Amino acid sequence: MDIRDIKGIGEKTASLFGKLGIYTMEELLQYYPRNYDCFESPICIRDFDDSKTAAIKGVILDNPTITYTNRYKLLSVIVKDENNDRIKLIWYNMPFLKGTLKSGSTYIFRGRINYKGNNIIMEQPEIYSLHAYDEKMGEMQPIYGLTKGLSGKTVIKAVKEALNICNHEKDYLPLSLRKEYHLAEYNFSVRNIHFPKDMDNLREARKRLAFDEFFRFIISLREFKGKDKREKNNFIIEHHKETEKIIEGLPFNLTDAQKTVFEEIKSDLSGQTVMNRLIQGDVGSGKTIVAVLAMIDTALSKYQAIMMAPTEVLAKQHYDYITQMITDFNLPVETSILTGSMTAKQKRIEYERIKSGNTKIIIGTHAIIQENVIFDNPGLVITDEQHRFGVRQRENLAEKGCRPHILVMSATPIPRTLAIILYGDLDISVMNQMPADRLPIKNCVVGTDYRNNAYKFIEKEVKKGRQVYVICAMVEESDNYEAENVMDYSKKLKNILPSDICVEYLHGKMKPAMKNLIMERFATGEINVLVSTTVIEVGINVPNATVMMIEDAQRFGLAALHQLRGRVGRGKHQSYCIFVNTSKSAEAQKRLDILNKSNDGFFIASQDMKLRGPGDFFGVRQSGEMDFNIADIYSDADILKNASEAVEKMEIGEFEMSAEEKDIYIQEIEKCIKKAYSNINL
Ligand code: ADP
Ligand code: MG
Repeated sequence: MDIRDIKGIGEKTASLFGKLGIYTMEELLQYYPRNYDCFESPICIRDFDDSKTAAIKGVILDNPTITYTNRYKLLSVIVKDENNDRIKLIWYNMPFLKGTLKSGSTYIFRGRINYKGNNIIMEQPEIYSLHAYDEKMGEMQPIYGLTKGLSGKTVIKAVKEALNICNHEKDYLPLSLRKEYHLAEYNFSVRNIHFPKDMDNLREARKRLAFDEFFRFIISLREFKGKDKREKNNFIIEHHKETEKIIEGLPFNLTDAQKTVFEEIKSDLSGQTVMNRLIQGDVGSGKTIVAVLAMIDTALSKYQAIMMAPTEVLAKQHYDYITQMITDFNLPVETSILTGSMTAKQKRIEYERIKSGNTKIIIGTHAIIQENVIFDNPGLVITDEQHRFGVRQRENLAEKGCRPHILVMSATPIPRTLAIILYGDLDISVMNQMPADRLPIKNCVVGTDYRNNAYKFIEKEVKKGRQVYVICAMVEESDNYEAENVMDYSKKLKNILPSDICVEYLHGKMKPAMKNLIMERFATGEINVLVSTTVIEVGINVPNATVMMIEDAQRFGLAALHQLRGRVGRGKHQSYCIFVNTSKSAEAQKRLDILNKSNDGFFIASQDMKLRGPGDFFGVRQSGEMDFNIADIYSDADILKNASEAVEKMEIGEFEMSAEEKDIYIQEIEKCIKKAYSNINL
């Protein structure tokens, strides 16, 4: 049902929802909250955890004071709790609160508590009377991802309406199945994922919806898998002596792991059945060169080789690398690049070259390559840094009777048992070895007082000819989120560091052409220090960079931090990673210690899961690559196993179903498969 059928949603609001990818009521109901605001019992000031939101009951000691900075009117009061502990409360640009905050009155204040130097402060707290807070307690308000112009309130109202409209639908999973796996009913689950009555209900709801997601995923996977089996290899690609020459000419020797994986790929490419392979290798293990060699063999066999990267910057990097190689070795192969920042005219020219078969190597971002490119005899499709892609897009090519070889590369460590459930039909090559010339990265987790030392160290490394990344969580300053930002930080570093050190910044909101330019200048060594958001997280390769300094490190997930750290330690120089923990939270310290002690992505993922515990959905999401809506392959490993088992049992008819249940189930599964097909564009 169209979202415009909801009362109060007109064209304008609908178009805002459209920006979030929501067009139908079903999509709205599947737009799960990112988090919940929980009104918990007030705590004592002395028990606070740094950077966490909490409520404090306190009496105001003095009338508020107002001070002025050049950006803000600051209103502040000191509040005392029953232990006589004190905390300073600050509001920005809200002088009108002065009348409310009278000395001697008692309120509940709710907000994030932070250290500012040695003082404890709460910024922008909400103010409640004791009675009003009592009424709110235990309530959980959903927090949705929003877009400009669309408020949380509007989304909440729309979801409530949609829930009422869709409430009569019957559960597609039969009762016997739900009983076996202790799954809540569907309507209950959707309702409680949006408006949970309490934690227990939320947990139940989430479990059911995560199960659904895995269940549907596995079902659609099987649909493809069945047809893929024993598929004939229509693209016999032999190993060429020119490719062998390239290997000999590399500035390094391939590691044994790289050799093994390339052998596996070669035998796939020239074998009886078509390739379906995942290369799993930690950041920096050298996956790219193996893929590049396979592409060159493909091109020399007169088939097209296509490589897709998640970001434009990465696509450009791969393109430059491979094009340079082809020039150096004087190979008769033309290359194309396709990215979003190209003009329509440039794209048209490339489309034409690709369609005519003139170019044999095509590199681009996922989105662009999927759009409207017509290939000429594509023999090999590679996706870098993404898992799910390979599964979806193959079928369409198969229908045209020319299913190419598929190679997927990823640094995300998936335990083998999970990989088999998720990609039962993919062969997995594990690249479990780092190049021999690598020194392990030296790590440290430090507080803000270490910054000056870090800057001196950065200066020293730059003087030695090395390069540096500094990561900030934000692009620019924001009123309600305190973290270092790229704009101010790069300015600050320019002042602190000697003027002959070139400091530049990079973030996702910059124009693609600008981003490319900055990345190019960094790659050539013209920029010494790059202050950036996590846009450089995946894949970027500048082996001369040896220092990675991450501000507000506690704000990132461990997997993201590991990926970021993987941007250094990619060459022969000793590399360093400085995690700046700006909180005093014991929990944050514990998490960062895991990274401090280990450089092994697999170990880190497993530890992170232990620390968070299964079902801890307020934790940071593990990986953007496995783009499930709510399920998480790590923390929901048990649910995934159950879903996989349930699919199998369903297929052999192990669950009792009434005729009506069967109908509903089949209808829903057909819809699910149709949807999976429509996701295939290539
Ligand atoms: P990832 O596996 O993270 O994608 P890359 O393929 O980008 O890693 O490789 C990281 C760096 O290591 C690159 O600069 C690459 O040229 C280099 N490299 C790859 N293989 C080797 C090797 N066998 N010996 C030394 N350096 C290598
Ligand atoms: Mg890579």
